[in-house]
Amino acid sequence: MATLIDTPNGGPKREASRPRHPEKQARADSPILRKPDWIRVKAPVSKGYAETRAIVRSRGLHTVCEEAACPNIGECWDKKHATMMIMGDTCTRACAFCNVKTGLPGPLDASEPEHVAEAVAEMGLKHVVITSVDRDDLADGGAEHFAKVVRAIRAGSPETTIEILTPDFLRKDGAAEIVIDSKPDVFNHNLETAPRLYLTIRPGARYFHSLRLLEKVKERDPQMFTKSGIMVGLGEGREEVMQVMDDMRSAGIDFITIGQYLQPTRKHAPVDRFVHPDEFKSYETMARAKGFLMVSASPLTRSSHHAGEDFAKLKAARERLAKTAG
Ligand code: SF4
Repeated sequence: MATLIDTPNGGPKREASRPRHPEKQARADSPILRKPDWIRVKAPVSKGYAETRAIVRSRGLHTVCEEAACPNIGECWDKKHATMMIMGDTCTRACAFCNVKTGLPGPLDASEPEHVAEAVAEMGLKHVVITSVDRDDLADGGAEHFAKVVRAIRAGSPETTIEILTPDFLRKDGAAEIVIDSKPDVFNHNLETAPRLYLTIRPGARYFHSLRLLEKVKERDPQMFTKSGIMVGLGEGREEVMQVMDDMRSAGIDFITIGQYLQPTRKHAPVDRFVHPDEFKSYETMARAKGFLMVSASPLTRSSHHAGEDFAKLKAARERLAKTAG
């Protein structure tokens, strides 16, 4: 069941004083652990960062880079790589790891597909990643809007490859098909964590539904690349990570991302441990052995980090495999 937390009509004063995550306020504080030396990020101060910020602001767009307080923002925005977050800035779920604002969102902005397409063209992106908040309040979960955004980008920038990072469309029959049929190049949906942790970490979602969504993409369009990611450091065991990898391969997923969970605030799920870079390397080796076409596993790996370069590698890996098989 989706958790709907608040109404959007509290007015600007109420909005200003409203916490970003009202549903988490009653939780006990979890102290934020000091990050280890291997997690160091570039400060967002460059000219490229400022230019990306100006384009995002001028079009009234939201980005997951800012909303999720992504540690890579300084590096990505410097290279004009921002991940647009469509359908508003308010999410109807209440995941314990996520910094995106929660509540009941307002109506969809009909001009958003056009504005996103304009921003993509202005930034001259070769590869773009589009994600969204969960919209359990909409009959189709926002599938048609998502498809409109993909089509608008395709029309405005036919050379740009498009990667989407979607919600799970839980209990929205026919929604996934609408999005798949808009023909993005990469369909990404993150499993986020091991199934045992779903009730505490991702309570509004269902592990096997998410897996099935990705399997459905492959059934409907076998050529479409599929991608999924998990965070580690949430309390999962090594054998659980292996099991998630096996499940992903059973669903035909091409590309796995594995990154360190970082706790956004004291009200979010605590970091269980900081996984050492050597352990990420061993996850990468295991994932390659299990047959993923592409693997990104490091402390600062995020779904959309280096997505353009990784897409090129993904395509090259498929071509290599086809040659070997032929
Ligand atoms: S890794 Fe993704 S979410 Fe983070 S700053 Fe880069 S593009 Fe944005």
